[in-house]
Amino acid sequence: MIFYWGIKQSFPQLDLHNIFFSENYKEEFDTLFQKKNVSNDPTVYINITSKKLSSDAPENSENWFVMINVPSNSGQNWDDIRTTARQNILSKLSRILKTDIESLIEEEEYLDPIRIEAKTSSHAGALYGASSNDRMAAFFRHPNFSKVKGLYFAGGSVHPGGGIPLCLLSAKIVGELVE
Ligand SMILES: Cc1cc2nc3c(=O)[nH]c(=O)nc-3n(C[C@H](O)[C@H](O)[C@H](O)COP(=O)(O)OP(=O)(O)OC[C@H]3O[C@@H](n4cnc5c(N)ncnc54)[C@H](O)[C@@H]3O)c2cc1C
Repeated sequence: MIFYWGIKQSFPQLDLHNIFFSENYKEEFDTLFQKKNVSNDPTVYINITSKKLSSDAPENSENWFVMINVPSNSGQNWDDIRTTARQNILSKLSRILKTDIESLIEEEEYLDPIRIEAKTSSHAGALYGASSNDRMAAFFRHPNFSKVKGLYFAGGSVHPGGGIPLCLLSAKIVGELVE
């Protein structure tokens, strides 16, 4: 789940990549996988591109991309999950940065599994396709070819996996298959 926040203040103590870990990482992941919910103390990643490219935000402001881990969509009440998560993130960041962050938000957008599924047709709003959590998972990923002649697949939800390096590998495999 991502919150996109336009923040009307500069934070010199933050950099391009910032990560605020959960006090209890195991509890966070148990909540994700077993309860299909979000921990009350989520690990928060903040990316601020205006740290490197000042034109990405107005003067004395910053473009925060605030991301937490969430489970895939299995019918949870995402409005409730989002509202609670937003409050927990704001409390955590306000405490650590010693500033009331909510009052600095000028613009706001979000992305959750429901929106990811609607925008990309990704099943259950998953970022990386089928879950890869057991030894055999790699063998069950969607292949790069299909039964339809001339139809191939490359990208994050098919073989070999999600993330930019694997997507590039996926493209390479498809390139070779096409050749
Ligand atoms: C929030 C987030 C953070 C991430 N962080 C990282 C990270 O730190 N490191 C990492 O390695 N990976 C990261 N990833 C994963 C990585 O971005 C993806 O695995 C990868 O981008 C997927 O590549 P893709 O080519 O499959 O799809 P995309 O990169 O989504 O490309 C699909 C493209 O197709 C276009 N498109 C869609 N429909 C049409 C259409 N009908 N006609 C024409 N064009 C269309 C889209 O506009 C888009 O440009 C992250 C993903 C997300 C969402």
